[in-house]
Parts: sequence; structure tokens; C-alpha cells
Amino acid sequence: MTVRTRIAPSPTGDPHVGTAYVALFNLCFARQHGGQFILRIEDTDQARSTAESERDILRALRWLGLEWDEGPDVGGPYAPYRQSERKGDYRQYAMELVDKGHAFYCFRTPEELEAIREERKAQGLNPGIKGDLELPADEVKRRLDAGEPYVIRMKVPDEGVCQIDDMLRGTIEIDWAQVDCQILLKSDGMPTYHLANVVDDHLMAITHVLRGEEWINSAPKHKLLYEYFGWQMPVLCHMPLLRNPDKSKLSKRKNPTSINFYERMGFMPEAVLNYLGRMGWSMPDEREKFTLDEMVANFDIQRVSLGGPIFDMDKLRWLNGVWLREDLSDEQFMDRMRDWWFNREALAELVPHIKGRAEIFSDVAPMAAFMFSGLLNLTPEDFNHSKLDDGTLRRVVQFTLWRLEAQRHWSKANIFADIKALAKAMDLKMGDFMTPIFVAIAGTPNSWSVMDSMALLGPDMTRSRLRHALNVLGGFSKKETKTVEKEYASLALD
Ligand code: GLU
Repeated sequence: MTVRTRIAPSPTGDPHVGTAYVALFNLCFARQHGGQFILRIEDTDQARSTAESERDILRALRWLGLEWDEGPDVGGPYAPYRQSERKGDYRQYAMELVDKGHAFYCFRTPEELEAIREERKAQGLNPGIKGDLELPADEVKRRLDAGEPYVIRMKVPDEGVCQIDDMLRGTIEIDWAQVDCQILLKSDGMPTYHLANVVDDHLMAITHVLRGEEWINSAPKHKLLYEYFGWQMPVLCHMPLLRNPDKSKLSKRKNPTSINFYERMGFMPEAVLNYLGRMGWSMPDEREKFTLDEMVANFDIQRVSLGGPIFDMDKLRWLNGVWLREDLSDEQFMDRMRDWWFNREALAELVPHIKGRAEIFSDVAPMAAFMFSGLLNLTPEDFNHSKLDDGTLRRVVQFTLWRLEAQRHWSKANIFADIKALAKAMDLKMGDFMTPIFVAIAGTPNSWSVMDSMALLGPDMTRSRLRHALNVLGGFSKKETKTVEKEYASLALD
């Protein structure tokens, strides 16, 4: 048997360090066994998937030095590697399960489903969708003929315990009562993650599934699907979730999670990958610094420890410093720095702003320095330019942060629309609203369009700077936060 592993990102946002982390372990596992590592794009959620996000994910994983043997860009014997291109196939598999009596048509309206959930809740049961929703065959036929919308759901036992074998966790037991009759095929004919994932893992001959622990609860559904189809299930392994230094689940609200951010900050990809390799795993000799090849050569999945590994940017910085000093000759340091600093693509976007304001080249560095920095050196006095009172000032920064945290499509136009809506809802003039934002992002109100700057700096860097500015301004106490959250929720934002 050839070991085949995969990473299966959904292209719905920035390339996440968690994706790179799981990809790294899948790659090491496959390489160690002389097998193959596959990249598959899971874009069945058509409303949220974008081509741009897919491109960014592939680019970021490559930047880190991760290479896949098969994937949407490199092809392979099991193509296509993008679920939207296989979508015709999934329906047939869902129907196979209906024919075998393992799945059924469900015509319930959202209101009816809600009533079922409420009823179950009232009985102290898990409010999932379970049990007897199947209609008699003639009724199904009548409704299908009438063109009623439907979904296909899988049947799930009401009682008993499902046992899942996990490479790291041994046998995990989950009560079937907790598992709902999962939708397999949506009313638009698209498969859900569960169906597409199982079908593709089977068709692509995946032997081992290493994925984040947030998928443990999906495992019973998957196990059942493999049984229903009569297929061999891959071996499962649920990796521990990365955590913020305060031990909460790593989230962009607290920590930059986008690989783009680390690239933009000027980290070395080797160091980032090395650091991800230290997340819950260690070399037999416990050394902190190692290359991907060294990791592969020494890889043993059983060395993964389950205590939530903490992704701490300060530690990563330290490790990066070691890499810079030990691994780059002065020549290489120069080359890397030049490539980072004079990245033509990034510069091309900056030049139009700089050209109109500079008279001599030495004007450029001071005015553009904030575009090449991490967090700015701010003091509360830097915000004295603002006419707003202290409470409003902090609200402007906080509300902008919250609004931009929710922004899925990062572009100048969308940032502008967000800010305009906030200023309007807070009844502030755009200029007054923008001054503290200028200071937070550029360090001074005298810069070029801060919307452009935010668009170029990207979501993680923008959010980090807003968060930092809020801290510099003293932030909000726990009690205040409650009030401010309520105020935000009641703003008339469209
Ligand atoms: N598409 C899923 C994700 O975004 C894949 C989960 C899995 O590996 O099964 O993480």
C-alpha cells in the first residue's frame, strides 16, 4: 500500500497558518513512508469560495516550501483536484445511498426543522436533526413530481456508541444520539463537505487523513458513509489545534493568522515552517532549529503531543533571528532583504503615492517606512491631532476594528464602504473619523490615502495596528467593553 495523504483547504479566506501546519504534518507523514502528498481544493461552498483565496493559499504554501505531488495546479492521475469540477459526480453517490436505503429525501422547510429542534431541546435531547423524517415512497414521488425542493440526508442510528480509531488518541467514543442526520446533498444540488470529502478521499485513494481536531465530531458521519458505500476508511489522525498565548483557539481576533502577514513582516519561510514543526512535535534530540528535510528524516507521528500547542509570535521572532544569523551569509542576507524590501509587485502599488509627494529619493524612506514596518511606535500623544473626545476616539478605533474583522473581501472599495457606514452611523464627519485611523495605520495624519494603505497592508496587519492603537489609547475595561459592544450592535450599519 502506498501512503497517500492530503490537505484539503476551503478557499474562503486568507491562507491560514493552521492550514500550513496540517499540510506540513501530512507532507512529512507521506514522505517518511515514501508516499504521496496531495492538495485538493474543497470549494463546494460556492457563496464563500473565491479563486483569489485559492490562488493565495497555493502561493503561501509554496512560499513556505511545501510542495505537493498532485493538485489543481500540477495535475495528477486523480484529477480534477477541485471539488467544483467534480460536482456532477457527487449526486450519483448520494442517490446510490438513497437506493440502498441509507439516505432519504427531506422536504422539510426551515420552519419545520426549527420546530423539530425546539421540540428536541424541550425534551432535553441534542437539538440536531434526527430520526423519523422519511416519507413513504409514494409521498416522496408526489412531491418530486410537484417539483418541491429537497435535500438528501443520511440516516444515522439513534442509539449506541460510535467508535473512532485515531492514530494519536486511540479509540474515541461518540454517542450516535449526538450525531444528526447530516445533509449530504443541498437543495442546489451541491454536496456538503461531508459527502464530497468522503467521496474524494476514496476516489483519490487517500490512506491517512491528518486534520485538525475540530473535525473529530464529523468522524462518526464519515465512518458511517464509508460503511454505507462499502469502502475502506482511511486511518484518521486529529492534530491538536493551535492556540493563542492565552490558550484560546488561534484566531485572527487575537493573533495574525494569515501566512501573508508573516511574509509581509519579513519572516523567513524556513523559520515559519520550522516553528510550525515545533507545534506539538519535537525532534528526538529536542533541538529547536531544523529544516524540512531534517523533520522528514526524523518524523514520527507518535511524537505529536496533544496539549494545545501555542503559536507565539515572539518565539517565532526569536527563532527567525536564529535562522537569519546562522543560515544566511552576508551575501544571502542582502539578497533576501532586497527581495523583500524591493518586492516589485508591492512597490508598484506604492510608487503612485510616493511620486507625487517626494522631491528627492531620500524623502521616500521616511514617508514609506510605515509600509515596511510591523507594529508602530505610538504614544497616546500621537492621537492629539484628533478633535474627538477620548471616548469617541477609542470607539472609532474599536468599531473600525470590529467592522474590518468581519470584512471577507479585502479591497479598498470595501474598506471605504465599511468606514463610511461607520462614520455615518456615528454621526461623525469623515475627516474627523479618519484622523485616528491615519495615526493607527501610518503613525501620522499626514500620509496618503489610508484606505490605500490598509488595502496594501492587508487584513492582518491592518487589524494588528488597530488593536495596537487601541491598547496605546488604554483600550476598554471589561465592563466598558459590554457597553461598547451593545452600542456597536445598535449602530445603524447596513
Ligand atoms: N475542507 C476542510 C477544511 O477546510 C477539510 C477538512 C478535512 O481535512 O477533512 O479544513
